[in-house]
Amino acid sequence: MPEKPQFRAIKGTRDILPPDTALWNWFEHTAREIFESYNFREIRLPIFEQTDLFARSVGSDTDIVSKEMFTFRLPDGSERLATEGASSSQTGEQVSLRPEATASTMRAYIEHNLQALPGNVKLYCIGPMFRRERPQKGRYRQFYQLNAEILGQSDAPAIDAEVLEMLVVFFKHVGLTRTTLYLNSIGDKNCRPQYVELLRQELLKVKDQLGPDSQRRIETNPLRVLDSKLSQEQEIIAKLPRISDHLCAGCREHFARLKDELKLRGIVYEENWRLVRGLDYYTRTTFEVIAEGLGSQNAVCGGGRYDGLVELLGGPPTKGIGFAIGSDRAILSIQESGNLPVLPGLDVFVAWMGEPTYAAALAIARKLRESGVSVELPGEEMKFKKSLNLADKLGARYALIIGSDEVASCTFTLKRLADADQRKLSEYELLEYLESEKRGTRG
Ligand code: ATP
Ligand code: MG
Repeated sequence: MPEKPQFRAIKGTRDILPPDTALWNWFEHTAREIFESYNFREIRLPIFEQTDLFARSVGSDTDIVSKEMFTFRLPDGSERLATEGASSSQTGEQVSLRPEATASTMRAYIEHNLQALPGNVKLYCIGPMFRRERPQKGRYRQFYQLNAEILGQSDAPAIDAEVLEMLVVFFKHVGLTRTTLYLNSIGDKNCRPQYVELLRQELLKVKDQLGPDSQRRIETNPLRVLDSKLSQEQEIIAKLPRISDHLCAGCREHFARLKDELKLRGIVYEENWRLVRGLDYYTRTTFEVIAEGLGSQNAVCGGGRYDGLVELLGGPPTKGIGFAIGSDRAILSIQESGNLPVLPGLDVFVAWMGEPTYAAALAIARKLRESGVSVELPGEEMKFKKSLNLADKLGARYALIIGSDEVASCTFTLKRLADADQRKLSEYELLEYLESEKRGTRG
C-alpha cells in the first residue's frame, strides 16, 4: 500500500467496512422487521430534490436550510453535460442533497395522491442524508437515517403513542438500552404564536445577558433560544415562561391523552419543556432520544407531529407524525456498550491438497453454500499447514480437510478450529452436522 494514498474519502464522509457492515445490515434489517410488524411499508426516495422543497418545509431560518445544505444547479437543456466539458450550470434548476427525509416523503405523498389510500399511510425510509456541518465523532456530512412517518386524517394521541412504542421496541431489540426518551408539546397554531410572542417579550428584557446567537433568535425564532447549550444562558432560560402553562385546551388535552396512552403501553419518558427541535414544521408532540457513550453528539432520534405540513407544500389537509433515527450514532452507541449481537461470519474453509481432490472440494463447497453455509475455497493448492493457518486468520469456525485419504474413502475431515475437535464424516453426515449446528442445536 502506498504511504500516502492519492485519493481519500471527502471530509465528513466515510467508508463503512466489514465487519461493521454486518452490524449495519443487522441494524437495518431489524428496523425493517419491527417497522413492518407495525404495518409500515418502505418508500425509496431520491437523494436530491428542489431546494425550495426543503426551504418551505424545514424552514429557511433553520440551521439546516440556512447553512447546512449542499446545493447546486442542474444543467438545463441548453447546456452540455459536465462530462462533455461544460462547467457547472448558472441557470438550471436549483437542487439540494436531502438533509432529511420528511420533506421528500410529503412531496411523494402529494405527488402520488397517497391520501386516496385507505386508512393511515405508514411509510419508512432508510438511507443517507447530507448536511454541511463540522465533522466530528457522531457528526458527519453524509450520515444515515431510519425514518418513519404516519400520515392521514386522524391526529389521535394513540398514533403518537404507537410511533413512540415502535421506537422503544426497536431500540430494545438492537440492544440500545441506556437511552432516555424526552417528550414535550410545543402547541399548535392556536396557542404557539401567543407563547412565542410572550417569550420574545421576556427575552427582550434580558437581551444584553444573552449570546449573539440567542440575541438574533429573539427576532428570527425565539423558541430556538430554549435549545441553547451556552452555560451562561442556562439560569436565564430556567426562568422563562414554559409552553406547558400556555397550551390551548385542545393541545393540553392532546398531550394529557398521549401521556395516558404511554402509561397504558408502559413507556417510560421524561418531560422536557425545552425540547423544541430545530425544524419549523413541528406542532404539538415533539420528542428526542438520547443515548450513552456518544459524548455531546448524543441525540439518536428526533421526531414529532407535523399537522399541516402537507398543506403547506400544496397538498390536502393532512395530519402527520414521524421520527428520524441517526443510524451512525445509534450503532456507535451499541458498539460502545459492547452489547453486540453474534453475527454470521465464515463457517468453513476448505483445505484441499493434491490435484485429484480439487473436484471433490469444488463439489462439496457448492453443496454447503447451497445449504446456507459460508465457505471459502482457495483457488490454488496449499499445504495443509498453510491452509489451516489461513483458515484461522480468516476467523473460520471449521476447516474441511480433503486429502487423498478422504477422496479414497469418500469422507471429509471436519476440524473445529476453536478446540481442534476433529471428526470424519460422510457427505450426508457433514451437511447434517453443519445444518443442525447452524440451527444452534449443537455446540
Ligand atoms: P443535532 O442536534 O445533534 O445536530 P438534529 O436535531 O440536527 O441533531 P435531526 O434533524 O433531528 O438532528 O435528525 C435526527 C437524527 O439524525 C439525530 O438525532 C442524529 O442522530 C442524526 N443526525 C443529525 N445530523 C447528523 C450528522 N451530521 N451526523 C450524524 N448523525 C446526524
Ligand atoms: Mg443538527
